[in-house]
Amino acid sequence: MVENVIIIGSGPAGLGAAIYTAREDFKPLVITGVPAGGQLLLTTKVENIPGFPDGIDGPEFIDNMIKQAEKFGARMVNENVVDIDFSSRPYKVKTESQTFETHTMIIATGANARLLGIPSEMEHMGVGVSTCATCDGAFFRGKDVTVVGGGDTAMEDSLFLTRFCPTVTIVHRRGEFRASKAMQQKVLSSPKIKVVWDSEVLEIQGKEKEGGVTGVRIKNNKTGAESVIPCKGVFIAIGHVPNTKFLAGKLKLDDLGYIITKNEVLTDIPGVFVAGDNQDRYYRQAGTASAAGIKAALRVREYFQNLSK
Ligand SMILES: Cc1cc2nc3c(=O)[nH]c(=O)nc-3n(C[C@H](O)[C@H](O)[C@H](O)COP(=O)(O)OP(=O)(O)OC[C@H]3O[C@@H](n4cnc5c(N)ncnc54)[C@H](O)[C@@H]3O)c2cc1C
Repeated sequence: MVENVIIIGSGPAGLGAAIYTAREDFKPLVITGVPAGGQLLLTTKVENIPGFPDGIDGPEFIDNMIKQAEKFGARMVNENVVDIDFSSRPYKVKTESQTFETHTMIIATGANARLLGIPSEMEHMGVGVSTCATCDGAFFRGKDVTVVGGGDTAMEDSLFLTRFCPTVTIVHRRGEFRASKAMQQKVLSSPKIKVVWDSEVLEIQGKEKEGGVTGVRIKNNKTGAESVIPCKGVFIAIGHVPNTKFLAGKLKLDDLGYIITKNEVLTDIPGVFVAGDNQDRYYRQAGTASAAGIKAALRVREYFQNLSK
């Protein structure tokens, strides 16, 4: 059987695409990725998705999208795609256990934030530790926070957080920032921002049951001296890795591995569309990702309409 459309990924982009293509009776097959659901599974309350005045938990939002897509006929396969063959039609999509054939495809594999790799980071993820200042900054109103990183994102996040937080301490493992000079200047001249150079985070301290994060333990790379920065929140801003490894050599990727698209969702390959954080270095929001999924779904419709002309 050749599928009309295979959607790869089940974050807001993939599921947005699934709802639209299912409602148009294309009977999409969603290869969800393992685990299914994407980045919103890493967070608790999401307050900025339009339509939820009291906010909604990330996993509940995803669960609702899955139910909505299935209600209209989307089918889910809980696997990872390991390879794609664009060399002949129909296209072939290979998972760990089977190969599917499809006329069109929406690739919505998202991106993962780079993490520090220390155990305490996952303990507090979504409840005191975040990888998204735009998403979670407002939860830290009136509280001191630490930002980890030294690139443009860390600078932008720190400046943004000064709107809510009395102090923002940047911990950077080198003695200078990678960020643009203009950004650095803004950060270094902010009275609310302090920079701790040449230092690495060893531990995020605090217990969730006892009020959450209390501080970060750091080590100075030059002297070896350890110290603690008291804070209630930690924002990790050391970059993202798009989930596009299996596409290398098959689609155009930029230097960081993001898929290069035209009009956000178009690729050079007929019937192959892209949506969400795997092509978006800038916005990285659930709303923008699901909007991209919807745009890709509308391109699938256009593709089939053009075929029948
Ligand atoms: C901690 C945290 C808090 C956040 N809070 C908010 C918020 O409050 N508001 C907001 O708007 N945004 C928030 N975001 C950002 C938001 O989650 C992302 O922008 C959004 O999830 C991107 O959607 P996506 O569908 O493009 O990708 P993702 O959500 O990353 O989903 C990608 C999907 O692709 C799958 N996948 C990956 N590789 C493969 C493969 N090889 N085969 C099959 N499937 C694959 C994954 O398993 C996953 O299902 C937050 C992000 C994080 C990390």
